[in-house]
Amino acid sequence: MTASGDERMMQTDVAIIGAGVAGLRAAGMLQKAGVSCAILDARDRIGGRIVTVDADGQPSEDGFDLGPSWFWPGTQPDIGRLVEELGLASFLQHSDGDVVFERMAREPSHRFRPINQEPQSRRLVGGSATLIRALAAQVAPDSIRLNTRVIEARLTDEGAVLTTLDADGRTDILHAMRIVAALPPRLLAAHVQFLPAQRADTIVRWQATPTWMAPHAKFFAFYDRPFWREAGLSGTAQSMVGPMVEMHDATTATGEAALMGFIGVPAEQRAARGEADLTAACLAQLARIFGAEAQAPQATLIKDWAADPLTATSADRFAGGYIAPSDRPWVAGPWAQHLFLAGSETSAVEPGYLAGAVMAAERAARVILSTGQV
Ligand SMILES: Cc1cc2nc3c(=O)[nH]c(=O)nc-3n(C[C@H](O)[C@H](O)[C@H](O)COP(=O)(O)OP(=O)(O)OC[C@H]3O[C@@H](n4cnc5c(N)ncnc54)[C@H](O)[C@@H]3O)c2cc1C
Repeated sequence: MTASGDERMMQTDVAIIGAGVAGLRAAGMLQKAGVSCAILDARDRIGGRIVTVDADGQPSEDGFDLGPSWFWPGTQPDIGRLVEELGLASFLQHSDGDVVFERMAREPSHRFRPINQEPQSRRLVGGSATLIRALAAQVAPDSIRLNTRVIEARLTDEGAVLTTLDADGRTDILHAMRIVAALPPRLLAAHVQFLPAQRADTIVRWQATPTWMAPHAKFFAFYDRPFWREAGLSGTAQSMVGPMVEMHDATTATGEAALMGFIGVPAEQRAARGEADLTAACLAQLARIFGAEAQAPQATLIKDWAADPLTATSADRFAGGYIAPSDRPWVAGPWAQHLFLAGSETSAVEPGYLAGAVMAAERAARVILSTGQV
């Protein structure tokens, strides 16, 4: 990488790549222990896969989750503990009422009352971005650098040297004793050039680890009230007809009404069909399932994560696949003492989930603090 003339040089104990849940959690723990951190994110916002917006798609403190919306404290105690520690309020996913199942286009949908709904999904009051704001509040504000894409990491006798690129194409240099890579391993392999190079088997493993939910797209339809509840419907539906395969009541804790569905059309076909065509098909499906009122929402939104280059790579345009939990080290060779992977996908427990992001971040922070070398 050739340095540009006006390149700046900075120094920190730990450089954290990614300001999602994992990056912010690791930074909070490290800074609390007196370790200086720079948190670098290529986006113009914090949160990564967590985005909470209003019906106009603008950031909201009482909004709808374009990324993750649920956590399951019963089976994921670590995220439950963190939510409690941060003093965040949560509520149960609305599921009272009947579920609808669409099996075939040529037969009417089936309506049934589910018996066992364990484990119950919970949502954060205000949306998942509440978690991001709470984690960010534990981090020194001037340590977060947005619009800062890490493109190269070089190992030297003194530690690591990162090269970053800002939104104007300007490069900067950051010296750090350690790097915490708080992003999906597949993105790390695609974005960052390592000198010396990572071992071939390491890169193959990073590339082969699917980024959880990256191939998916969410559709939202916003209404003046959750009218489906009046008809005894929970808002939950499953479909083998499509375009959505799974639908849920996305109404906020304060009563802002919405239905949300995961679009089952593969990413390539979504791109070819375009948003207008998909929106019309999704609304027609909602009307089939929840009644004619669903056809006339106040607004709609689609978030296609496969089209977001800071979440998905070309490998994520196809079905994602299962992430096998593993406690094998993610880094080998000369980088092993300097680079720590902390994205959710690297967690040995609940990889891919919010819980995994918290656990992977806490693991990385603990290992760095235990070495006492920063
Ligand atoms: C549609 C969808 C629904 C989901 N639903 C749920 C759910 O209900 N429950 C659940 O538990 N989980 C869910 N997940 C998964 C959850 O979102 C993730 O587990 C979690 O957000 C991952 O956090 P992270 O910090 O590990 O990574 P990310 O949030 O992906 O953060 C990585 C950050 O790295 C940044 N970055 C990337 N490349 C670079 C670079 N070169 N330089 C600098 N920065 C870079 C990105 O901009 C990003 O901000 C869902 C995900 C999606 C997409």
